[in-house]
Amino acid sequence: MKTIKMEDMNWPDIQKAIDEGYITVVVGVGSIEQHGPHLPTKTDTLIGDMLALRFAMEWGKTLQARTIPVGCSEHHLAFPGTISLKAPTLKAIIADYTESLVKQGFQTIIYLPSHGGNFAAVKEAIKEQQAKFPELKIVGYTDLMGLMDCLFKVSAEFEITQEEAGAHAGENETSLILAFADQLVREDRFGPGYLGPLGDREVKTIIQEGMPALSEIGVLGDPTKASADKGAVYLEKTVEFLIEKIKKQLE
Ligand SMILES: [Zn+2]
Repeated sequence: MKTIKMEDMNWPDIQKAIDEGYITVVVGVGSIEQHGPHLPTKTDTLIGDMLALRFAMEWGKTLQARTIPVGCSEHHLAFPGTISLKAPTLKAIIADYTESLVKQGFQTIIYLPSHGGNFAAVKEAIKEQQAKFPELKIVGYTDLMGLMDCLFKVSAEFEITQEEAGAHAGENETSLILAFADQLVREDRFGPGYLGPLGDREVKTIIQEGMPALSEIGVLGDPTKASADKGAVYLEKTVEFLIEKIKKQLE
């Protein structure tokens, strides 16, 4: 097969793959939201798409379904270009994805959210879909803090602090986009955003008052030390981490 991305394939080749045992499918769940003055609004969708593709390749006998491109981004709506789904809308999209894929014979469906605001809705949706289709395996990695920890551990190896690596448009996301879409990155605009502590209180402030309450430029972290080489490592390590976690869920 030339590709495992179903959006780039035709139906006879997809059918052939399913008949040959490609009955696992992976779906990234991204977002369209501001990512500071230097990254494109589709940052999380690009990351989710790459993660899902690499995951599917590593997992084996797996196809990738079209990444859900829009997510729950209400706290970024103060910035132009952001499009936000309400949680019930995202859950309804996941329900429709699941129903479509089930009809075609997929037996394991793996959802991989790549945007923090999606995790809660994806978690609930997976639970509901699993109850609706008990004979299938519907799973996903929905522990946002676990994913952040994985990324921060990689940052530490590069001697980049958690504050620089950041939770939004900081060093790690910028490195990832440099690695696979550097033409969309404005390196001339790299500069620090919010670099303070990011605990429950700060997260609550962002959710209740919006991102400008913490960072006027919409950045949590500092992209200055970002590089494509680091981005490739972030991707590889995150895929390794997700494979291990999903394997455990399916045991
Ligand atoms: Zn992001």
